Amino acid sequence: MQPKDYPKEAARLLKERPGVREAVDGATRHFDANRRRAYREVDIEALRDWAKGVKDHLLSHLGFYLEKAEAALRRNGAQVHWAQNQEEARRILAHLVREKGLKRAVKAKSMLSEELGVNPLLESLGVEVFETDLGEYILQLLGEAPSHIVGPAIHLSLEEIQKIFRTRFQTPPDASPEALAQVARKALREAFLSADLGISGANFLVAETGTIALMENEGNIRLSTSLPKIHVALVGIEKLLPRLEDLAHFLSLTARAATGQRLSTYVSLIQGPARPGEEGPEEVHVVLVDNGRTHLLADPEAWETLRCLRCGACLNACPVYRQTGGHPYGYVYSGPIGAVLDPGLLGLEETHPLPYASTLCGACLEACPVKIPIPHLLLTWRHRAVEEGLTPLGEKAAMRAFVEVMTHPGLYRVFSKGLRALPLSESRLLPLIRAWTEGRTGPRPSPKPFHELWESL
Ligand code: SF4
Repeated sequence: MQPKDYPKEAARLLKERPGVREAVDGATRHFDANRRRAYREVDIEALRDWAKGVKDHLLSHLGFYLEKAEAALRRNGAQVHWAQNQEEARRILAHLVREKGLKRAVKAKSMLSEELGVNPLLESLGVEVFETDLGEYILQLLGEAPSHIVGPAIHLSLEEIQKIFRTRFQTPPDASPEALAQVARKALREAFLSADLGISGANFLVAETGTIALMENEGNIRLSTSLPKIHVALVGIEKLLPRLEDLAHFLSLTARAATGQRLSTYVSLIQGPARPGEEGPEEVHVVLVDNGRTHLLADPEAWETLRCLRCGACLNACPVYRQTGGHPYGYVYSGPIGAVLDPGLLGLEETHPLPYASTLCGACLEACPVKIPIPHLLLTWRHRAVEEGLTPLGEKAAMRAFVEVMTHPGLYRVFSKGLRALPLSESRLLPLIRAWTEGRTGPRPSPKPFHELWESL
């Protein structure tokens, strides 16, 4: 599936899996209501402004802080690798697997690992991979990609999950969510104890101290990063924070934005491999991944996208995302942030309709803990799409006709008269607006056009 296919895939999904809309809508509204409540508990505007300022400072001095982070990580005993793109990241991982003879990996949820295609790579090298986040584990059983940054399996109903577990583990058809979680926990326990490789992402990497911070609610990340002898953390270069004292506020702000919690249930702060007498991994490898980020940073109109904390709040607030979940977007990052980040990372031509997957209502900006101006960025990408000639011929012709009509009063009068005479609710008579009127009542123009109303005043 390609981001290019967004409209087709969204229509297909709504037709073939109508239950997805209900599942996604219910889960995102729940997250969003929790977020609003958690925002009200603090001076959220001051906190958002402060967090935006910290990330802007970080991004405008990124080279400096990356070098600082590398030095701190090495001081802590971690091994640092730099990956300019997906191929380099995969090569680093493959080299480690071969050199150390690794056979079994436990993986914490990481969108960057999805971006890099880590699971297929490891499997091609003969490594058995276990997703350990419950949602990700369910998706691995199903062979599906995550549908949401924070809740990867929110598009599935309880009945669907019961069915998967029944097929796989012969659980009762009406097994409770708790019983299903117990079954998964049992299956994963053995994997945790026998894995020789643990893979995680990073919510934050503190440049000052080389601390990798990971947030979660299940405890699986802590096990994935502490039980295997080798821990690999995949870190996007925009995930840095300058100072340790920034971290506490970012942990709280991210939890509030993502799930409405004041803090996630577990926060792991990783400072390198285990020291003598300590339990933990023998080696910690940190792969600092660019993969299009410095290119995006150099874009004067789109760099603010890199402030993103991957909290998912904009997805939960978005009336478009709520209809389908993330799959039709065709790439790892979906929803409002996907619609502006994907063109920045993959190129506009590869992702063209995504910036149009929005009503521009502004709910994403209101939800975003670091005030990324998503509606403005969407318009930037749309503007570029027009300039690059990526818009369909029909749309171009319609826009030209619109400009002609709106700039010539005589034409406007004729057109508005004709429009009022058309049976707009009869969508089959107007193929151009069929897609719009299929799910809605056709718009009814006012009996009198504006200029007539104006003249009659
Ligand atoms: S754009 Fe903002 S709201 Fe959306 S995931 Fe990123 S930080 Fe969260």
